[in-house]
Amino acid sequence: MNLCDINQIKPLLARHGFHFSKSMGQNFLIDHRVPESIAEESGANKNCVALEIGPGIGPLTVQLAERAGKVVSVELDKALFPVLEETLADYDNVTIVPGDIMKINLNQLAKEQFGDYAPIACANLPYNITTPVITKLLESGLFGSVTVMIQKEVAQRICAKPGSKDYGAFSILCQYYADCEMLFVVPPHCFLPAPKVTSAVVRMTLRKEAPAGIEDRELFFKTVRASFLQRRKKLLNGLASSFQRLTKDQLKEAILNSGFDENVRGEQLGLEEFSRLSCEIGKLQN
Ligand code: SAH
Repeated sequence: MNLCDINQIKPLLARHGFHFSKSMGQNFLIDHRVPESIAEESGANKNCVALEIGPGIGPLTVQLAERAGKVVSVELDKALFPVLEETLADYDNVTIVPGDIMKINLNQLAKEQFGDYAPIACANLPYNITTPVITKLLESGLFGSVTVMIQKEVAQRICAKPGSKDYGAFSILCQYYADCEMLFVVPPHCFLPAPKVTSAVVRMTLRKEAPAGIEDRELFFKTVRASFLQRRKKLLNGLASSFQRLTKDQLKEAILNSGFDENVRGEQLGLEEFSRLSCEIGKLQN
């Protein structure tokens, strides 16, 4: 069965009495080239286990199953289980795990399901939980790469460079963990029902080691978040409201010692610059 052929999907869903849920971000792919390209770009191969989130009726799942050693696919909507049983009947290397990806313990899942395979993550994500899911996947440290379809705006934020309008704390979070690439854009007409937003696929290839110079990850991220608290204001003000045990003069000193102008804004600083700044703040705290 062609899982992206709308003339086959509609009767399949009707037969199972399935209704789309907006709150679960259900937009199913109806252009077969898209799941093929996503699976191809994920780099899945026979040594890999691919964690998929939200298989829907399985168009990406089958593409991953063709390439990966194993596919573990987490689905929240019980109504899709009997559909998946039918559409994935020919694939013995797919395990559907019922549950909410936000509540699942990934380490436990890995222990139970991943075996000796090299884990990657690949999904057409439910758009209402895009940023927390990506954060959870990256922070888990389990995956060699994370290839996901998300709203184009979020994809642009993930890949944004310092100084651009899309650049922010989430860009830095993703770029701290991974090398991030925007691969291609997917228009609304590729989905049933068509979403209001344009989508894009990003690939995040995890770094083997933390970026050079970042010794204290917690302090680094606290500095980043503080710097973007008040986007339009000076960096110093954001830092002052987050590091209340330090005086403004001390923080100004830290900014100057990092080699920046005292009027610098957070959006101008890259990973390396934030690393320098958090080291200087760290010295003050000791
Ligand atoms: N991959 C399919 C479906 C994408 S729609 C396709 O491309 O056609 C998003 C999917 O995520 C739906 O199957 C939805 O039921 C599922 N989903 C939504 N919230 C979820 C959650 N918290 N955990 C796991 N799956 C979820």
